[in-house]
Amino acid sequence: MDLRSLPPEIGKAHSDFAGLLEACTDLDALLRLKGAYLGRDDSFAARMMDTLKASPKEQKKELGIVINALKNQWEEALKSRQSNLEELRRQRAAMSLIWDVTLPPPLPSRGALHPLMRLIDRLADVFRPLGYHVEEGPEAETEAHNFDGLNIPEDHPARGSADTFYFQKHTDLLLRTHTSPVQVRVLKRLAPMIEQKGGIRFLAPGRVYRKDEIDPTHSPMFHQVEGMLVGRGIGMQHLKGTLDYAMKALFGSSADIRFRPSYFPFVEPGCEVDVRCPLCSGTGCRVCKSSGWVEILGAGLVHPNVLKFAGIKSDIWSGFAFGMGVERIAMMVSQTPDLRLFFENDQRFLAAMGGMD
Ligand SMILES: [Zn+2]
Repeated sequence: MDLRSLPPEIGKAHSDFAGLLEACTDLDALLRLKGAYLGRDDSFAARMMDTLKASPKEQKKELGIVINALKNQWEEALKSRQSNLEELRRQRAAMSLIWDVTLPPPLPSRGALHPLMRLIDRLADVFRPLGYHVEEGPEAETEAHNFDGLNIPEDHPARGSADTFYFQKHTDLLLRTHTSPVQVRVLKRLAPMIEQKGGIRFLAPGRVYRKDEIDPTHSPMFHQVEGMLVGRGIGMQHLKGTLDYAMKALFGSSADIRFRPSYFPFVEPGCEVDVRCPLCSGTGCRVCKSSGWVEILGAGLVHPNVLKFAGIKSDIWSGFAFGMGVERIAMMVSQTPDLRLFFENDQRFLAAMGGMD
């Protein structure tokens, strides 16, 4: 570039420019340099424009080209240096974030029992003072335990492969569809000792499986808690008193229950049990669909055939049984609208449920 037609100070400024640019180590210094070279007033660019104005007409065009080229060159260099400095500043900020040794270290969260497990534990705590202990059974069950021993007829639709997961190689084996087969196992095991024990009572929590599509209220795997008591002269009044106590322990002393007749093959008579909606105290809300009541249990007096199957004399002994869906209660109490949240294990949900630190 031929700078001879410009004042000598401009030539010097141009030869100094690269060094001065290099010396700018922060954006403030860069801004000052930009002002000195390209600013509107009192800058080298302004002085060049004065020179242009004062130059003879025939030189103006050529001089204008030189001035423009010079200004463009400075502008480009300043812009590139600016983006370098900005990037440097970002990196420094990021480094200072990572290496701030004064910050307390991030603590790993301690983890906790899953909300469903805690609800099961709470149910066990409610029934323990009544003499109930916890029994468990296998999730891969035989048809005999899952259906036959529970007085479920051969042609009952629940036995079909549309509702129940059967194992392909062992066609007698299935994934249990309820926790009731634990009744059959425990009754069979304790039948020889029932006289000396004076009866049988236990709680059976666990996973169960049904061929349901996953949606906000259905899952092919969910949890139930089953309860059973066998003794002499046991009737509906004992069932009612027990459940009334349990629901008050679970939902508070104002909890109220009501029984509706229903049918399950393994009980006679059978009933469904509603609890006065613990969220609105019965005045009506979204959870109870404005009815003031929510269905919470299936129950009834143990069918004589169930006792007979286990080898217990049904003319001497009688009992009651009840079963409830754990997710159903958890959803109601926590007002969780979607069952799937309990299985996805999103830590934000678990923390909100109070299960984690
Ligand atoms: Zn309600």
